[in-house]
Amino acid sequence: MELRQEASDLQEYSNAKLDRVTRYLGVLADKTRKLDQAALETEARISPLIHEKKKLFNELLTAKGSVKVFCRTRPLFEDEGPSVVEFPDEFTIRINTGDDNVSNPKKDFEFDRVYGPHVGQAELFGDVQPFVQSALDGFNVSIFAYGQTNSGKTYTMEGSSHDRGLYARSFEELFDLANSDTTSTSRFSFSVTVVDLHKEQIRDLLSECGKSLPKVHLGPPDSFVELVQEKVDNPLDFSRVLKVAFHNRGTDTLKFTVSHLIITIHINYNNLITGEKLYSKLSLIDLAGNETLAVEDDSGERATDLLHVMRSLSALGDVLASLTSKKDTVPYENSMLTKVLADSLGGSSKTLMIVNVCSNASNLPKTLSSLNFCARARNAILSLGNRDTIKKWRDVANDARKELYEKEKETNDLKQDIIGLKQALKNANDQCVLLYNEVQKAWKVSFMLQSDLKSENSLLSDKHKIEKDQNAQLRNQVAQLLQLEQDQNLQIQQRDSTIQTLQAKLKSIELQLNEALRSSDAKLANGLESRSVAQLNHGATGDGMDSVAVTKKLEEELLKRDALIEVWYS
Ligand code: ADP
Ligand code: MG
Repeated sequence: MELRQEASDLQEYSNAKLDRVTRYLGVLADKTRKLDQAALETEARISPLIHEKKKLFNELLTAKGSVKVFCRTRPLFEDEGPSVVEFPDEFTIRINTGDDNVSNPKKDFEFDRVYGPHVGQAELFGDVQPFVQSALDGFNVSIFAYGQTNSGKTYTMEGSSHDRGLYARSFEELFDLANSDTTSTSRFSFSVTVVDLHKEQIRDLLSECGKSLPKVHLGPPDSFVELVQEKVDNPLDFSRVLKVAFHNRGTDTLKFTVSHLIITIHINYNNLITGEKLYSKLSLIDLAGNETLAVEDDSGERATDLLHVMRSLSALGDVLASLTSKKDTVPYENSMLTKVLADSLGGSSKTLMIVNVCSNASNLPKTLSSLNFCARARNAILSLGNRDTIKKWRDVANDARKELYEKEKETNDLKQDIIGLKQALKNANDQCVLLYNEVQKAWKVSFMLQSDLKSENSLLSDKHKIEKDQNAQLRNQVAQLLQLEQDQNLQIQQRDSTIQTLQAKLKSIELQLNEALRSSDAKLANGLESRSVAQLNHGATGDGMDSVAVTKKLEEELLKRDALIEVWYS
């Protein structure tokens, strides 16, 4: 009984609790809807700001055209002799031509940045970073390492294990930027293609790879090449894929100097809220060496290689020059190199040329050739670099940077709002989970109680059945006893009637006896008077015999009766 009461109390309690939880869940669902709505609205407010930020950043980056040139001079080895270059400021490289025939043997070249031999990979990357950012913002970006063989192109791009170059640093930056915004509803995914371009022939260095993604097209729609793209989710993946590509490229270092290596990081952007999707790519190109054909040394195969390199590099120079001078038609068609990179050269894309220089005297002609090539690409040889222009552009850049900073601040404030909203949403969700657990617990208790009740019921019904059986047995026994009693009563009645008969008999015998006694007395009196003593004795003996027999019979009858009565009462 107690258990039943407890069970029903608990069930009532759990039902009440369930009611409360259901009501609360409704409130929470409503709250969640409102928070989602608020998040959507904030995202909608942020979106134009982010777009504006990208636009401003893009304007800042393209303030002086979409082609930028950095110049890097590598440190000289001991046996290479003294340097013939100077660095008057961070935008100028001054070459001492040693030509005494001209009034000023020193020639200045101005670029967007000039790095002396002691500038390391990290500092260089600091200036390359905006290009990487721009690629993540949805613009195609191409970064070339240009220069004669042995000038530091591969060092700049690949670097060494302890001082990584642009490949690794660029991908790490993309990865960090893509993951830095924890509140964002933006999702980025990356994949990589690697090709070797030799004598106008493309070789896919990842052709043997996983092929988990569909092939990607490079080049114009009418003559594209299909490449295997390898998905890369993190910097480790990226370096693993590059290792495979380098392995597939082989070990013929001489061949490397006459082929271009194009590593492209494909960036897919997806905004989960607005549904906006963007695709852009960052191409990093370690160009073939900028050599001149020395007819006496180079012949046969090597000469053909060099001719192909010269042709493709000059085609690249032409494309860049026409982009810089804003010509209507850009000659992409003149080489495979410019064809496959056409969508990363011009238009809204950005190009960074890093010209590598070896600053000793023996390399002077090649250095001048490289610098002239890049100066043409940038359309900014000596005479154009006047300090006022530079100052003016710096002011423009500073203003833009300031505006960018303010927009960024506004964006950050909104992002903080989103963080708050998302935290509230998370708290609400946590509470939902807690309540859900409580409901489950209550259900469990009520279930247990129900099963307790069930087992108690079955126990009771068993008990009830046993009692019923016992009752039936008792009833049977009572009926038997009643039957016995009836039988005994019948026997008593029979005995009573026997007794009555016996008593009647006794009475008649007594009567007979009395009669006999009376007559005997009378006879006795008469005898005294008329008969002799002998006759008296004889008569007495005869009459005396009769009365003794009667008395004996009487006594027997009485004994019988007493025995019967005794049996009856026993
Ligand atoms: P390239 O690829 O243009 O033929 P490399 O990158 O192979 O030239 O560089 C030639 C040599 O100079 C290599 O031994 C490289 O380690 C070294 N080197 C190039 N640039 C630098 C630098 N900035 N600092 C230190 N060593 C460099
Ligand atoms: Mg190299």
